[in-house]
Amino acid sequence: VVARVEAVLEALDIKTERRQRAGWLWGHCPYHNDRNIGSWRIRIDPRHERYGQNHCFVCDDGGSLAYLVSHVRGITVSGAHDWLNEFEDQLQVIEEEVPTLREEIVDKSRRKFEMPHEVIFEALPKWVSPARLYIEKRGVTASQVRMFCIGYTVEGRLAGRIVFTTVDSSMRFASYMARDFSGSRRAKRYLWPAAEEGADSNVMFGEHLWPLPQYREKLYVTEGAFNALAIERVLPSGSVGALGSTSTVAHYAAKIATFKHVVIVTDSDEAGDNAATELQTALARHSVVSRVRLPEGKDANDLSADELREAIWPTPIPV
Ligand SMILES: [Zn+2]
Repeated sequence: VVARVEAVLEALDIKTERRQRAGWLWGHCPYHNDRNIGSWRIRIDPRHERYGQNHCFVCDDGGSLAYLVSHVRGITVSGAHDWLNEFEDQLQVIEEEVPTLREEIVDKSRRKFEMPHEVIFEALPKWVSPARLYIEKRGVTASQVRMFCIGYTVEGRLAGRIVFTTVDSSMRFASYMARDFSGSRRAKRYLWPAAEEGADSNVMFGEHLWPLPQYREKLYVTEGAFNALAIERVLPSGSVGALGSTSTVAHYAAKIATFKHVVIVTDSDEAGDNAATELQTALARHSVVSRVRLPEGKDANDLSADELREAIWPTPIPV
């Protein structure tokens, strides 16, 4: 049995010194009630033929690694061999598959993005009226404000904006897009985080509400958050996701492909056509892709619920 001893000790919750000494690790004896860290030792040099051999100088108990496992787990020695084999298999799976996962986790903890402090998150009825009227006019409901973590601002760089946030699968803010509601002609319509804010542009608007990958059926992909929200209001089931900007479509292809059926809802203009074509090409081998063109010059939230329901009834695209 060649399971890595250190990992086994961790799994068995046996405390040891951090550093090995001449191929041995010293720790609390698992065979007697030991408060001392210097009475029991285990061989951790994998090149040694007696790798995993352990012995206590106080109670004189000890033996092979399987013997240790059988004692601590209260199972037979042959059961302990099985346990070790299974443990080894799991370790291998973790080492083969998790490096990327591990990087992702490290990446996430390294990411320092914080939502700007001036963004206000509160129940829609409490919003300042210009912001509330703007968003209500587009049909957004109080429960959507809560579910999709939508905020607004009255001061700072983002003053006078609705803040659509993206939230990653560990429920942390990843980024935002801030839509001007002041109507000022000099204001840019949208603002995004500056590079130094450390935002993660790979997370889609709406993504935190998606089911686990094995339950993903149908996704409606829209160009903007308002359209995604309009569709969410008339959907009996299914998920929505909004592209941050059409230039980032390829970014999202891998995660969108976790759905069996993807419906791309875009404007009838050239940008919409390009976004749809790009997504279809990227997804064709993974998901069933359909395309919906919104009526010329209309946004999803310009349509009545019935019109929208009818409009998003997808037409399958022959591949
Ligand atoms: Zn002992």
